[in-house]
Amino acid sequence: ESHVRVLIAGGGTGGITLASWLRRLRPDLELAVIEPSPHHDFQSGWVLVAGGFVDPASTRRPEAEVMPAGVHWIQAAVDAFEPDQNRVRLSDGQCMGYDVLVVALGLELQWSTVPGLAESLGRHGVTSIYRRDLAAHTHRCLQAFEGGTAVFTHPATAIKCGGAPQKIMHLADQQFKARSGVGVRSRLVFCTAQPALFPVEAYSRKMVAIADERGEEVRYRHELVAVNAPMRLATFRVQEPGQAPREEEIRFDLLHVVPPMAAPRVVAESPLAVNPEQGWVAVDPRTCRHPLYANVFAIGDVGDFPTAKTAAAVRLQAPVVAANVLAQLEGRPLDPGYGGYSACPLITSDHSVMLLEFDYTNRPVSSFLVNPVKERWFAWLLERFAFPWIYWNRMLSGLPHEGAYLKPFEGLARRLGLMRWQG
Ligand code: FAD
Repeated sequence: ESHVRVLIAGGGTGGITLASWLRRLRPDLELAVIEPSPHHDFQSGWVLVAGGFVDPASTRRPEAEVMPAGVHWIQAAVDAFEPDQNRVRLSDGQCMGYDVLVVALGLELQWSTVPGLAESLGRHGVTSIYRRDLAAHTHRCLQAFEGGTAVFTHPATAIKCGGAPQKIMHLADQQFKARSGVGVRSRLVFCTAQPALFPVEAYSRKMVAIADERGEEVRYRHELVAVNAPMRLATFRVQEPGQAPREEEIRFDLLHVVPPMAAPRVVAESPLAVNPEQGWVAVDPRTCRHPLYANVFAIGDVGDFPTAKTAAAVRLQAPVVAANVLAQLEGRPLDPGYGGYSACPLITSDHSVMLLEFDYTNRPVSSFLVNPVKERWFAWLLERFAFPWIYWNRMLSGLPHEGAYLKPFEGLARRLGLMRWQG
């Protein structure tokens, strides 16, 4: 059995960002990352691909290129977590021991839990931006759409980037309306299994207003439960409060699906999970440490953080987890510094974005010191041009969030009346 001081399971957004933070803080720390994939994906970029703004190739780089220098990359998958023995079992039969483990395995897309869905993807007008290979296909579907009913779904489970299901609908709407005759022949229906468009009320209200203004129909408590792609029928279970559930079929010409999501099985079946149904890694929401295993931390989508699962959340978790990993190794008290920050830039057209930032208080916050409940052109420029660059060149290199540079100006912004939206 090999042994390493700090072992990071998963080399996606969370794993690489954290590895870079740790390397910066302690260049001599012995550190390994377990990641089976030869590629690293910038997943937020898949929406930009579907909108036709960027090339799919720009959203992927070789894993070796993003792995920080000096970090040992183990190209295998974790098969089992054995935290009582301080080790993990790997798919190649090896065991790896550690002093501190950080779980960064992301989440699993559960396409096959909706009958008829997995086999229809990429055919009969069924598509999704949640799979890299279908992002460009989604763009072709939007371009080929000649009118009819376009249905967009949002599942009952927690998902990564809660705004993405709506982003793609707004981009579709704009593209349809831009083509002669297509807009008037189109009906866009957003079917969400949730009771609201977003968990933060101020954002949700604005989202409803945007959908209304554009004539996009919103149906709540509509969960996609079956797809009959050749017949172009989507079946929804509708659960109105106080009523028996009923089924409703909608005929579609285009169906954009966001699948149910869950913790990876290897985590859900391990002692690290909250419980087998809630398979996420149990965490203290502020220190990111496991409540029972003092030398285990989680970062990113796999953690049971009571906030939205986004790369933006990882951005602010990483410095806290890095500091706490070192504190744990050196026997110092932990920093309860993660306040639940998460963000999801909601693209509403090819020139406007609403920067949805919030934290554990479930109230809008803004790193950019402007009212976030507003569609803005500068936010579009950030999303389209700045964020992809920042992801590859700053975030994955373990550099601080840009908001940190604006923080000192908050007092001034307050005096100038720019922060009045905060109440
Ligand atoms: P990931 O980055 O998914 O990494 C998990 C890694 O674990 C993967 O590399 C995987 O190969 C690896 N792995 C899996 N199983 C194993 C195993 N058994 N052993 C070892 N390794 C394993 N976030 C935003 O902040 N803003 C956005 O606008 C935004 N838009 C999005 C749009 C789309 C379409 C999608 C799909 C996501 C979007 N996100 C956005 C969410 C963001 O991409 C994720 O929240 C982020 O990548 C989470 O990082 P992670 O490290 O937890 O998971």
